[in-house]
Amino acid sequence: MPEHFHVKPSDVSERQVTVSGEEARHIATALRHKRGDRVVFVDGQGGEYECSLEAVSSFSVTARIINRSRKGREPIRQVTLAQAVPKGTRMDLVIEKGTELGVYGFIPLVSQNSVIRPEGGLPVPGEAGEGRQARWQRLAVAAMKQSLRSVLPKIHEPTELAKLWDQCDAYDLALMADESEKRLSVARAFSELPANKEVRRVLCIVGPEGGFSEEERQRAADKHVRLVTLGPRRLRAETAGLALAALALAQLGELG
Ligand code: SAM
Repeated sequence: MPEHFHVKPSDVSERQVTVSGEEARHIATALRHKRGDRVVFVDGQGGEYECSLEAVSSFSVTARIINRSRKGREPIRQVTLAQAVPKGTRMDLVIEKGTELGVYGFIPLVSQNSVIRPEGGLPVPGEAGEGRQARWQRLAVAAMKQSLRSVLPKIHEPTELAKLWDQCDAYDLALMADESEKRLSVARAFSELPANKEVRRVLCIVGPEGGFSEEERQRAADKHVRLVTLGPRRLRAETAGLALAALALAQLGELG
């Protein structure tokens, strides 16, 4: 399986791909690729380019496009995960593993019981002193390449749950994982949909360490968001986010 690398759509021409910076350094220096080697470039918007390397240096790499295809491994139906940002760097795990699973977009959520507040767009620096958004974007690019995807999941701006309710109507189904729900499973929520209802966009909502408030549960009911159980065990927020997204993707037939 040829290595996958990221290329900006603007750096793809009719016959050629050109990359520079970190990706060029990775190809030329870290992996010591040479002229004639076969690699695949993905542009993050569904484009996949099977290429033969032409000019290779740690500053710039050009490659001749041999074959181009689209979205070979991308889910057709979209699962967006609105995850209350957990403490520390646990959101990193959600971004990386969720991207591998096929999540279409991530909404860093702030709810009433959130520990992390959005002032200044979650400015807590990551390892490289970068902001959280830039760190999550970087993790998503790496996970997209590693999982052979070609669409880069969108990482939305931090969003208050109070504002997310107005966006729920844009989805065919909205699920909110909550331990107070004892009956409705994800599978049952799908099975209870009208037979003729086409489900192409699903919103998954997961709470923070302190869980959702009664007011938030009531708002969910008002907005026809289905509260679902993830079983009798109490999951960490990041575990719940990945479990809910995976269960929804499986119900949509996107996990084999
Ligand atoms: N409020 C809970 C408590 O203090 O007992 C803990 C919240 S849990 C750590 C964080 C989030 O994960 C919850 O808001 C919910 O969205 C989800 N979650 C965890 N376990 C779950 C389960 N068994 N069923 C449904 N959702 C769950």
